[in-house]
Amino acid sequence: MAIATVNPTTGKTEMLIEPHSAAEVDERIGQAHAAAAELGRTTFEQRRAWMHAAADFLEGHAEGLGELITVEMGKPIAQSVAEVRKSVKAMRFYADHSETFLADVPLDDPARVGASAAWSVYQPLGVVLAVMPWNYPIWQVVRFAAPALMAGNAGLLKHASNVPQAAMLFDDLFERGGFPKGSFRTLLIGGGEVARVIADDRVAAVTLTGSESAGRSVAATAGDHLKKAVLELGGSDPFVVLPSADIAEAAKTAVAARVNNNGQACIAGKRFIVHTDVYEEFATEFVRRMSELVVGDPLRPETEVGPMATEQGRQDVVDLVEDARAKGATILTGGTLHDGRGWFYAPTVIADLPNDARLVQEEAFGPVASLYRASDVGDALRIANQTTFGLGSAVWTNDPSEQERFTRELDAGAVFINGMTVSYQELPFGGIKRSGFGRELAEVGQREFCNLKTVWKA
Ligand code: NAP
Repeated sequence: MAIATVNPTTGKTEMLIEPHSAAEVDERIGQAHAAAAELGRTTFEQRRAWMHAAADFLEGHAEGLGELITVEMGKPIAQSVAEVRKSVKAMRFYADHSETFLADVPLDDPARVGASAAWSVYQPLGVVLAVMPWNYPIWQVVRFAAPALMAGNAGLLKHASNVPQAAMLFDDLFERGGFPKGSFRTLLIGGGEVARVIADDRVAAVTLTGSESAGRSVAATAGDHLKKAVLELGGSDPFVVLPSADIAEAAKTAVAARVNNNGQACIAGKRFIVHTDVYEEFATEFVRRMSELVVGDPLRPETEVGPMATEQGRQDVVDLVEDARAKGATILTGGTLHDGRGWFYAPTVIADLPNDARLVQEEAFGPVASLYRASDVGDALRIANQTTFGLGSAVWTNDPSEQERFTRELDAGAVFINGMTVSYQELPFGGIKRSGFGRELAEVGQREFCNLKTVWKA
């Protein structure tokens, strides 16, 4: 894939970028490696000031960067600006909390290990490569970079090929704040070049957010070179609605959970599993709301759903829907391409999916909701857990015992009760099964790229 900004609203190529040569990549890895050594000698106080200064820059450019996001990948402008603001918050959060998150951990009773003192310290690993997707082009990078840099690591970014302008922002964002030259470098390369970077002796670890196939490839290379990897992959999150819930509220939130980010979020509710007693009530309200969404130019403030980010991404969704239709599923609304320019796809709800429909197992990375009727609570759990994914999940019930049961038995990295899955800097984020391994955000996310060094003193 060419490294280019192609506006998904118009299909027009706005900017074509020359990839970095092998020599340029080598030089950039060298800069990050030198910076990592320097960063390891800096204090939390210095890094805190630099991170806040970089956050100030982002905050001061939130509107313009929001527009850039919308032009590069098509999300509605208000959501783009909100993404920048959320990223600023995360930068300030790690600026202010890292010293506490990474404080030394003393052993209370060192005599038990024959020592006068024993403790553990969190130290940076060095240079960490981040392979990132286009769907939250600023937030995804920040949620890796802010904790990593605050821990004293340096970063290399291989961003998705369709968001090169967002990628270039990060080439000097942290230096603008005061971080040493080379602390964070962008590599303008294709996915095929990533293995070579992981293999480089100067690179200590890798994190990838993206598809299952990219995850498999990155994990294999990391394994080959015995390097730490964190993987945040796809999801097909269940959104379960049971009779004691507020059904109208559940249907309203279900729409937001499905179409936020034009339906292209890993933690979007994708499979709506509804107890038979409230199925008709939920379905009627959900379909009505999905069919009334305002689809159009994402730069217009009234637009609720913009185009899909790439032509191929839309084709993937078309293929899934047409497969289901051909196998006998019912399209309750949508299932059509929008007329005219751009990669629009109508918000869609599909019911009566046969078991062999690809949508039952595969992720719909676009505004397509699958509706399931569950005969009872156990059946709802069975359907929820029947995919190979395990990222987020939501359950709507006001019955405490059902809340307890779903919290325990859903195969997922997160359970949201009477709400929709959202990422918060304060909460760990990640998945199980084929949604990946490792965690981002909160303290645990920051500690993923640290060496927890044990110190024992006679
Ligand atoms: P993708 O094709 O896997 O791309 C993600 C990144 O990986 C891009 O930078 C891409 O580069 C690179 N890449 C692709 N193939 C690679 C390979 N074989 N080796 C190394 N790097 C490779 O993902 P996408 O389809 O654009 O993004 C959507 C997927 O990401 C969905 O499955 C979604 O659920 C998942 N996602 C997960 C999370 C999470 O936190 N769990 C968050 C957001 C998205 P190029 O652009 O150059 O191909």
